[in-house]
Amino acid sequence: MIFRCKSCGGNTVFSPERQKMYCPYCESEENEESVPSESMFNCPACGGELKIEQYNAALRCEYCDSYVIVEERTSGEYEPKLILPFEKGHKEAEDILKKEFGKQCFLPDDFLSDAKLSTMEGTYVPFFLFDFDIRYTIQATGHKVRSWTSGSYHYTEDSTFDVRRTMRVPIEKMPADASYAKPDPIMDLMEPYDYGKLQPFQPKFLSGFLAEQYNMPSEELLQRAIAKGREDAKSITEQTITGYASMTNRNDGCSYKHKDTTYSMFPVWTYYYKYHDKTYPFYINGQTGKMVGTPPRSVIKMLIYSATVFTGILSLLAMWNIVISSL
Ligand SMILES: [Zn+2]
Ligand SMILES: [Zn+2]
Repeated sequence: MIFRCKSCGGNTVFSPERQKMYCPYCESEENEESVPSESMFNCPACGGELKIEQYNAALRCEYCDSYVIVEERTSGEYEPKLILPFEKGHKEAEDILKKEFGKQCFLPDDFLSDAKLSTMEGTYVPFFLFDFDIRYTIQATGHKVRSWTSGSYHYTEDSTFDVRRTMRVPIEKMPADASYAKPDPIMDLMEPYDYGKLQPFQPKFLSGFLAEQYNMPSEELLQRAIAKGREDAKSITEQTITGYASMTNRNDGCSYKHKDTTYSMFPVWTYYYKYHDKTYPFYINGQTGKMVGTPPRSVIKMLIYSATVFTGILSLLAMWNIVISSL
């Protein structure tokens, strides 16, 4: 499926800046019609063969640059229930990188070039959001110590208490990304997202972006989500235990009750910069602008810098020599 402008026939896309459907050719807004695909392997706009990969749910036609949404991978069991639409546009994502790295000394010259930054793509990453209750229990012996001096004697009193706490912690929408290709620790760093902006899924939000259908089973991800929720529950339970000098014989217990799973798509800008046969990935949260990534250092710039410093030191030594010998 593509979205086509009713006025000029151009490919209409979702504009993060306007939060509306927008035609970049005639600048009309909310003036689109959907054109279904006859086959998931051909572009509905130009008929060109799509380079569709295993998990592509939306992609760009390399012949006419239209953004194609794959119906088979965004409907039925693959239809997301919720989506967080992009709020940061391409230009804003570029500016985030420029602001972060623009003043770095050893950055390769083309890292922030227009040509390289134009390769940045907005991608909807599949996520499962889990609702569950965690029951966290701590049992321990708490110690309170009191000491005082009377006459020539020093007394210490160690009182022990049986400490038991059980907390039921409801967890809502704990996210876990459902993409094998996206590194889990990096996707975790993209958090937090503002869930207040979650919308019921509509295919039009994907127009103008790439998207991946979920490709990891939700059962596998539930365990990851529970591991994250467990840490929250542990911390909340620990906060209720105060006033003890120390605790011994501590036993922690944890059980959970899974309540709901919601398939969703979250926005991420991706920039893959290649330098000396190595790819340096950068990810920007398409809603909040939070960025994760480390750029390479230009070997040539570092060599020039070292050579300059070395020459400077040699000049200083030479001057020092002249001063010494003239004394
Ligand atoms: Zn138009
Ligand atoms: Zn096309």
